[in-house]
Amino acid sequence: MLTYYCDCCGAVISHPSERYIMKVKMYASPEMSEFTQEDLEKDHLAEMDRLIRQMEERDAEDLKDEVYVEYEFDLCIPCRKIYYRRFQGYRPLKLEPGESY
Ligand SMILES: [Zn+2]
Repeated sequence: MLTYYCDCCGAVISHPSERYIMKVKMYASPEMSEFTQEDLEKDHLAEMDRLIRQMEERDAEDLKDEVYVEYEFDLCIPCRKIYYRRFQGYRPLKLEPGESY
């Protein structure tokens, strides 16, 4: 049988019924930004050239991960409770007094 460890606190998850799986998807907002008059007056070919050069200097994996990345974590029961409370309050990344990563 596989041994699972909590990805949050490192504790051994001794029984399958005590293992929780948390999946996180992080992706760029699909909302379109508003165009200003200044945007419409830009030299679009020069702007495209600048963006292409900027992308060529970046790592392809980093660029892909900026658009979409997915993670999966194993959690023990106490850590599941911490995230459950945080997600209920829509503040999953904010540390509470006395909490640490
Ligand atoms: Zn844990």
